[in-house]
Parts: sequence; structure tokens; C-alpha cells
Amino acid sequence: MVWSAANGEPWKEDKSSLRSGKQDKPFNPRRSAYEMQSSGLVALKQARPWYKTVSADVLQQALRHLATAFNRFFQGKSGFPQTKSRNDFNSFEFKPKTVKVNGNHIVFPTLGDMRFFKSRDIPQSWEIRTVTVTREVNGWYASLLLRDDSIPDLPKKTIDELQSVNGVDRGIKKIAAMADGTVDPNPNIGKRFQRHLEIRQRRLSRKKKGSKNRFKAHQCVARLHQKIRRVRDDFQWKLARKIAASADVIGFEDLNIKGMKARCKPRKDPETGMFIQNGQAAKSALNKAISDASWYNLRVKTEHQANKLGHWVIDVPAHHTSQECSQCHYVSPGNRDGEKFVCENCGHHEDADVDAAVVIAQRTAQKLGIASLRVVSPKVTPKPELTGCKEISPTLVGEPGNQTGNRERVAVIVQMSLFEDVSGESPSIPLCG
Ligand SMILES: [Zn+2]
Repeated sequence: MVWSAANGEPWKEDKSSLRSGKQDKPFNPRRSAYEMQSSGLVALKQARPWYKTVSADVLQQALRHLATAFNRFFQGKSGFPQTKSRNDFNSFEFKPKTVKVNGNHIVFPTLGDMRFFKSRDIPQSWEIRTVTVTREVNGWYASLLLRDDSIPDLPKKTIDELQSVNGVDRGIKKIAAMADGTVDPNPNIGKRFQRHLEIRQRRLSRKKKGSKNRFKAHQCVARLHQKIRRVRDDFQWKLARKIAASADVIGFEDLNIKGMKARCKPRKDPETGMFIQNGQAAKSALNKAISDASWYNLRVKTEHQANKLGHWVIDVPAHHTSQECSQCHYVSPGNRDGEKFVCENCGHHEDADVDAAVVIAQRTAQKLGIASLRVVSPKVTPKPELTGCKEISPTLVGEPGNQTGNRERVAVIVQMSLFEDVSGESPSIPLCG
């Protein structure tokens, strides 16, 4: 019998001797769950013919995601995978070299030719890699990862070239306070749209399940969510760019965001055995504010922008950053009074968050072990030419998600919106008030 992926054989032959190069892993004769399931796709397509309308790439990719989900579950990293219907998927990927673009037409395997709004030209020499198709409320989007080997990798500054360091203190009231004295207020984007969202969600909840009106109301809610996401992304990209350009090294405090949002322990009255107030109600509002600020995403976006400039992003321990004096390093809770910082030891005073940012910058310099690293000071406003920051190559502008490897880093994602719905129906966008 020939052992192949096609007959779902649970064991496989050792072919490692045929392959060249060193084998660092011992041979495991057992087929992985993915390999066995992937070989079952042929039978599945016969049993349920609609699977034939889906590209084999896409089906295999769904199985690969399933395998990852189970691996993460067995490693104790996440919960048991949830079952999903075909309607639960909002995106799928095509492998490199399977999608073609001619003019304003894009050709997908099995789906065919489609017209799209071409937002940017793709140079001839660039190769189309993975293509991700995403469903959003107002239509379908294709995101093309492009690669051009003639473009050199983005150079990162060497440790000797680093001159200045800036610290960033993330907060609720001020989303980012920097060591150079710049303070950005939190735009409270989620809060700004909350009233609108409440109204639309209430309208949705009052529509009959399965009705056309419920679908329309659902689209209304989804459109607002999309808007909130876009407004927040726009704000964060601009802020991240500003932070990344401010110095050669950017220091962030290492926040345990999950721990900060953890629920308070339930408290019981020792006499009656009844549950009493544990402060969770008050904390919920703070949790919402933390989620709204999305500190983690700001850190991710800053790192992306810093990569383009060749700058470094470093995490430093967060303990007592807001209680430590940046001048004499005296730590005391009494140093801080609301938004004011007055050192009990040396009398140094400063905005509390800016002082914390200076401490973060100092810790970053310490972590790197460079004594000559200049902390961007609040007294002097740094000019771009002073920090030595300039765009390494403006033509290499990348977008989120293309940092997978050295080569992929120079690639560019071009976002294009498709006008036609891939399922054949035109996306119906009802008007909503
Ligand atoms: Zn002091």
C-alpha cells in the first residue's frame, strides 16, 4: 500500500534520509491531526458538495487554524476551541502566487474575475504574496502582501548610533505623556460613541429575530463599530508616528494589562455569609477605560513606526515609575499628589506623568547600558533634525501586519475595496438614521 496524504493513513514513512540538510528533530511516524483531516477533504467534498465552491487553499487554511487552536488548548494557553459555522468566518487567505491582478480586475482561484476599486498602483516587478479577503459591513476588502527583493531590508540603527531616548507613560486621562514634556490627552473614542451605540443596540434588540429589519438594525450597529475602530486606528497611528520619531530609543513601561483588568475577589460577610461590596462595580468603569485606551495597540503601532525609522522600542519594569523622583531617585507615595509631582527629598516638581516618563526613559538607558544616551528633556523642545530622525526610505511605507520576516518587512500591503460581493449577492446597505 502506498502511504500518502490522500488515504488518511495515520502513520507515515521515514523519508528524512532522502532529504538533504541536517535533521534537528527526531522523526515522528505519526501523521499530525492536520495531515489526517486535510486528507479527508476529498470525501468531505463528495458528502457536502458546497465545499467544492471553496478553494482548497482556504479549506486547508481553516484546518491549519483549527490545529493551532487545539495545540494552544493542549498547551494550556487558551480554552477549548469553539465550533464555528461557515457564517462565522469573516476573512480567508489565498496562498502566494494564486491571485492575479489585471488593471482594475482581480482574479481569485475558484471565485473568478472581479472588478475592484484600485486605490494604489502595483509596480510591475512586485510579486503578490498572501492575499487576505476580509468581509466588513460595507463590502469586501482584499489586502495584498507584496514583495520586491530588489529593495534592501530596513536598516536598524546599531547600538553605537543611538543618541537619544524618550520614555512614554501611558494613562487614562493622558493617553501618552512623554519625557520631552509632550502630553497627549485621551480622546476617549469609545466613550464619545457610546450613546450612539447604546441607541442602535437597543433598536437591534427590539427587532424580531430572523427578520429583515433585525438584519438592517444589525448592519447599523456594525457600521458604528467599524467607524469607532477606524477613528481609533487613525488616532493611534498618528500618535505612534509622533512617539516613534521623537527619539532613537523609545521606552515603554511593561504593563500587566490583563492583571490590571482582573476581577476583584468576592467578599463575604463573616457573620451573615452574604456577599458584600468588593469594589468590582467601581473597577468595571476603569476596566472599560483601559480597554478604550487600548495601550497594547499603541505599543504595537509605535514599534511598527519605529521599525520604519530604524529606531528601537524597549520595555522596562513599571514598578513605582510614578512615585520615583527623576532627579534624586527617591521613591515615596507622598511624592505624588494627583497630577502634581513634588519630591519630598529634593523638592523637584513636574507633571506627575511627565516625571514618570522621564523615569521610564532613564530605566531604558540603564537597561541598554549606554551612559551617553541623552534623555529627551522637557526643557528643550526637540527638533527632528536634532534627534537625527529622518525617513530612511519613504517609498517603503508599510502597513500593519507585514513584519513577519526580514524579507516580508519591506513588503507593502495594498488595501483595495471590492465592489462586488464574492457570494454573488450585492451587499445591501440599508439607510439608517
Ligand atoms: Zn527628588
